[in-house]
Amino acid sequence: MLTSSVTFQSKFPNIGTTIFTKMSSLATQNQAINLSQGFPDFPCSEELVSLVDKHMKAGHNQYAPLAGVIELREAIAEKVEATYGCAYNPDTEITVTAGATQAIYTAINAVIREGDEVIVFTPAYDCYKPAIESVGGEPIFVRLKGDDFKIDWEEVKKLINRKTRMIILNSPHNPTGSVLSPDDFKKLEKIVDQSDIVILSDEVYEHITFDGLRHESIARYPKLAERAFIVSSFGKTYHTTGWKIGYCLAPKALMQEFRKVHQYLIFSVFTPAQYAYAAFLKKTEEYTGLPDFYQAKRDLFRDALADSRLRLLPTKGTYFQTVDYSAISNKSDLDFANYLTIEKKVAGIPTSVFYYRDVQTTHIRFCFAKDNDTLLKACDILSSL
Ligand code: PMP
Ligand code: GLN
Repeated sequence: MLTSSVTFQSKFPNIGTTIFTKMSSLATQNQAINLSQGFPDFPCSEELVSLVDKHMKAGHNQYAPLAGVIELREAIAEKVEATYGCAYNPDTEITVTAGATQAIYTAINAVIREGDEVIVFTPAYDCYKPAIESVGGEPIFVRLKGDDFKIDWEEVKKLINRKTRMIILNSPHNPTGSVLSPDDFKKLEKIVDQSDIVILSDEVYEHITFDGLRHESIARYPKLAERAFIVSSFGKTYHTTGWKIGYCLAPKALMQEFRKVHQYLIFSVFTPAQYAYAAFLKKTEEYTGLPDFYQAKRDLFRDALADSRLRLLPTKGTYFQTVDYSAISNKSDLDFANYLTIEKKVAGIPTSVFYYRDVQTTHIRFCFAKDNDTLLKACDILSSL
């Protein structure tokens, strides 16, 4: 154990450990079923693992080009064009990143300056706010409305001013499972028309939508795509969250700025997995089958909780289910999540932490990317509350 010999004031006094780390550790300590942090508890494809092995043995073990191996960028371009009808140039408009988190940090760092405002919808995934603040920007929080967490575009319109530099979207949405509709994009198009506002679209759950709903990527809306960074993550699509590989798409001028940050932040990411994903992306059924796969889990989870005292909020995408526990307890969501983990042995995420204001919710988010037996065991406990 070392004692620091320098005295300094924390640069980030208000930043603690992420709620995902906290709740996962609490789950482990208490041997609780961990439905908190979002990751699958089942294995990824053996073929994908073999592909990584093959490329390591083939000697693909040195630095990848800073934008990512060209085979992967070409495969991404092909997939995005086939799925959303938008052609991105693999040389100039696609960069492979160390997961979506690095892509988000990089995009924000590339365009946000001291004093710029960034519109962030709450509840918001946790990495947006610190990235904005670390470069001197100011997050402007806008609450999503109702049980289906819709955007009030009239409210957004009123908040836009000459300092507004970016709007961050996330659909399908973590933590609520809501999705944006074509009507949302039409309204957004009108709001940003003639402005210099950049859109950062976090689409990591692009392949997890339910009930036949189509994912509305920004890439489907050319006028918006012209001003957008789109971020995705192979971790969500291929059950490989621990590999931390994702990518960013943007028009050339924006991507040039993105790469200026990317090259000194990380330069490039794990080469063998890039080759493996390049080959695996061609197997389209691996991602086109994902909605059915996760919808079956969502339905199993919801059916098993149907007679419980938890109120289930709608989930149209992602692998998260939010429940309202107000019929069971008047504890705060943080206290209730701790109680559930420690006393009842099921861990979830209290969502008030995603609002950044003094917001009280009676909502807990559960991750249903788990084996069915695990989900049913958790539901038995939750139904007894
Ligand atoms: N955005 C959202 C909405 C997420 O849920 C996550 C991770 N679960 C990320 C970004 C980060 O993805 P990655 O693990 O690829 O960094
Ligand atoms: N995105 C995951 C979730 O929402 C967590 C990732 C992390 O732990 N940083 O649960």
